[in-house]
Amino acid sequence: MEKIGIFGGTFNPIHSGHLMIAEFLREELKLDKVLFIPTGNPPHKDLNVSAIDRYKMVKRAIKTNDKFEVTDIETKRENLSYTVDTIRELKLIYRNAKLYFLIGLDTLFQLRTWKKIDELSKEIDFAVALRPKYIDISKINEEISYLQDNFDTNVEIIHTFQLEISSTDLRKRIRDGKSVKYLMPDNVIEYIEENNLYKND
Ligand code: ATP
Repeated sequence: MEKIGIFGGTFNPIHSGHLMIAEFLREELKLDKVLFIPTGNPPHKDLNVSAIDRYKMVKRAIKTNDKFEVTDIETKRENLSYTVDTIRELKLIYRNAKLYFLIGLDTLFQLRTWKKIDELSKEIDFAVALRPKYIDISKINEEISYLQDNFDTNVEIIHTFQLEISSTDLRKRIRDGKSVKYLMPDNVIEYIEENNLYKND
């Protein structure tokens, strides 16, 4: 059976931390591919960078990895949708595949607040990337038990390397005129420069 990792995020912008855990999880879970899904722009939120720009940056970033793909399933939508609707749509496309939702540790602790997490949990299992030196494993186990008890969520922990990079920090560095080289692929940096993104955030 084909195994596909679903990696959703704002990717505003995509960075080496995202790419590294996607590759790690792909290897550890023996995934045939990882499908990146940039989220749409919330209509009420005036993000400076369009959904199309974020999608295009992901497309560039994954160019050299033939196991990575990106879809515009969410960025092309006029209205924001629930993750569960996206997953249901994908399951119609990949009928015979086992899907995993790939997340970082910060997202694990946000899952309980996601809209329709109970429905989503019925559709897909989660794989969370855990930093090797993360000390408070009991807090993680507690959260996983909470999700399991309340929403029937299945979460698998995968120990990975991780880079302490966030899109928030990168946006700030760009705004401050600082270097982001090696923190994201060169072709993404070029896109940001060509389109003057994040400069005046
Ligand atoms: P922001 O700083 O704007 O909140 P972010 O860097 O956390 O953004 P997202 O697009 O929100 O990026 O994240 C998408 C997914 O990638 C989430 O599941 C998040 O937990 C994970 N992630 C983000 N940064 C890292 C990182 N450095 N290492 C591992 N996972 C990460």
